[in-house]
Amino acid sequence: MPTQPSGFEGGAGDLSSSRLILVSNRLPISIVGSGEDAQLVPSSGGLVTGLSGPHARRNGLWIGWPGDLSVFDERGRKAVDERLFAMRAVPVHIEAAEAKRFYEGFSNGVLWPLFHYLVDRVPPQPRGWDDYVRVNERFADAVVKHASGNDRIWIHDYQLMLLPGMLRERMPEARIGFFLHIPFPSSEVFRTLPWRERLLEGLLGADLIGFHTFAYQGHFTTSLLRILGIEPEVDRVHHHGRTIRLGVFPMGIDGDSFAKLGAEPDVLAEARAVRDASGGAKLLLGVDRLDYTKGLLRRMLAIERLLEREPEWRGKIRFVQLCVPSRESVDDYKSFRRELEQCVGRINGKYATLHGPPVHYLYRSVSQSELCALYRAADVMLVTPLRDGMNLVAKEFVATRTDGDGVLVLSEFAGAASEMGEAVLTNPYDVEVLASSISRALQMPETERRSRMAVLHERVRSRSVHDWVASFMAALDAETPSPNAIDVRACPVALADALEILGAAQDLVLLLDYDGTLVPFAPLPELAVPPASLRLLLAELATLPATSIHIVSGRPMAFLERHFSDLPLRLHAEHALWSRGPDETWSSELSVSDGWKERVRPIFEEYVARTPGSLLEEKTAGFAWHYRRAEPEFGVMQARELRVHLVQSLAQQPLEIMTGDKVLEVRLQGASKALAARALSAAITRRATIAAFGDDRTDEDLFAALPSGTLSFHIGDRPTRATHRLRGQEEVIWVLERLLAIRRRRHTD
Ligand code: UDP
Repeated sequence: MPTQPSGFEGGAGDLSSSRLILVSNRLPISIVGSGEDAQLVPSSGGLVTGLSGPHARRNGLWIGWPGDLSVFDERGRKAVDERLFAMRAVPVHIEAAEAKRFYEGFSNGVLWPLFHYLVDRVPPQPRGWDDYVRVNERFADAVVKHASGNDRIWIHDYQLMLLPGMLRERMPEARIGFFLHIPFPSSEVFRTLPWRERLLEGLLGADLIGFHTFAYQGHFTTSLLRILGIEPEVDRVHHHGRTIRLGVFPMGIDGDSFAKLGAEPDVLAEARAVRDASGGAKLLLGVDRLDYTKGLLRRMLAIERLLEREPEWRGKIRFVQLCVPSRESVDDYKSFRRELEQCVGRINGKYATLHGPPVHYLYRSVSQSELCALYRAADVMLVTPLRDGMNLVAKEFVATRTDGDGVLVLSEFAGAASEMGEAVLTNPYDVEVLASSISRALQMPETERRSRMAVLHERVRSRSVHDWVASFMAALDAETPSPNAIDVRACPVALADALEILGAAQDLVLLLDYDGTLVPFAPLPELAVPPASLRLLLAELATLPATSIHIVSGRPMAFLERHFSDLPLRLHAEHALWSRGPDETWSSELSVSDGWKERVRPIFEEYVARTPGSLLEEKTAGFAWHYRRAEPEFGVMQARELRVHLVQSLAQQPLEIMTGDKVLEVRLQGASKALAARALSAAITRRATIAAFGDDRTDEDLFAALPSGTLSFHIGDRPTRATHRLRGQEEVIWVLERLLAIRRRRHTD
């Protein structure tokens, strides 16, 4: 919304130590006029109010677009830049046509309606993605130029969702926070976006991602699962070897200053004047940017319906609707305004009395004190957006009502509803219900009005925008638990060192997991057969002098035998429950009983039947239920339920339940890959160099059981006890090929 001067003043600060770098699409400073007389006017508004303190205290810099500066010549623009910098603001210049495509075209033409569930308003052939990428890059350039490793970078909102990822590439160690000020929509809506993967990947560049409500965070995690296949933990996600924290931070307002302003004599006098002008009619109030998400049309229809249904209100209510001009150059907004104004005209034509019309419509912005006077004057405040990330107007109304009276009618679909349950909550899509909610608010007895308002007022007061900033900053300052493994892509020296050790080893033993390590995952386990190139690579490695290769897999004996028994490899099946000796016979360290299997089989079979896409793999001493092909959320849910079911059924049995990558297994207690380490006792005694590779939780058992000094490589994003991390299965092949080349050279030299 257009904002009034005050708030953001910049100020002197020490540029050398850790700073707060704020990044938002718009700088909180407007440039008014042109040439040398141009004025730089700091904005107010909730966000700026909250952030200007930390900006000043933490040597802040605010990076953003200063608006269209095409009226300035080169010298004038430089002068503006310098004046901005003196206010600790860094301008990102975007040429007007590009800004239009980035801001109006993509950000407000595609992301804004889609994130507010108004899918029909997204153009059938959305444009502006390339500009969105380019402008995000331009922001990344500016941040990289001004930030240092120690700084905290806080990025704001949907116009800059690619920026965290771009910064992570260029500043791997940076501490980056991102806050989304609008709703994150249901994955069903989000996944209609053609650029869904890129946007999620972009966000995952951050260390901390904040949302207004728990529901938005939930939609985000479901989208990660459905679109990127990432199974998040409650408040964190592991991706590319990093942990990204998620948090719910409902934004507040500066309640005390609204309370203070609302109690000033001038404001109270203005409020009285507004009430007097209503001539005793009940006063309803709406204050919104003129935006199609705000539910203005349906709100008008509800007023019309109320007057139609309950004629006793005719001439007895006056509805003041303040619409603040917004995005006026966008066609969608122009036509929406026309439609709204026609609707107002129709209602007024129908229900005006000789004393005045029922709807008093204003299309402009007002000063802060006029706004507070309206809040103080209203009997009923209507905040009925179809969707709103938070909605600050609802909170401002409540904060201003130090008189303890007034009723708030609030949409269930505003983020604020999750904190303001004492309001009259309503469904803005249902005009009949909305009309009833308004009627109920108009008739609410004073005691009820006051008791609801008292609770709301105290809550809004106690959760200010300053608390919001402080809690986000505290979370950003807190250490993200860093995975202990070295990420070799981010740290090529570490990989070079590891290759040197393995390449030079006098006696080398490699332990290799199969699925997800030597071959990529396939939709069905039987399709993941080793390609000829892999078999050749393993054979060549294993025939080098002083090099032995073990395959340690969860697969059954028959599978490993079928594909590898002709090669000079040691095989370990069913997570090393079975090992194939040099004499080609399989044996086990454990006494393998399977009497329990018949009792457990029906449970698994029931889940296979109930979960389309899942399948059961039977082993000599276990079952593995795979749900990689099931509908993602359903699969995760069924796996959790099956686990509970199995825990209950298998109590007191020498069995264990294992959760792997999209698989749930029941196996004999102790039948873990740690058993493979026992097969290495001879190698350990002769002080061979051992290296293990694996991607799954089962491989962690092996990593843990190996002697210290062993090199271990985790493939993937999970936290691991491995010493090194590889990002994908194809990198394992690359490492093995390099190793083959190095060791061959060594043996021929
Ligand atoms: N507001 C304003 N000028 C006005 C009327 C209101 O700047 O003439 C402010 C209002 O005080 C509130 C903000 O605009 O702080 C609107 O925020 P909200 O979260 O309700 O909606 P948004 O515009 O962000 O979608």
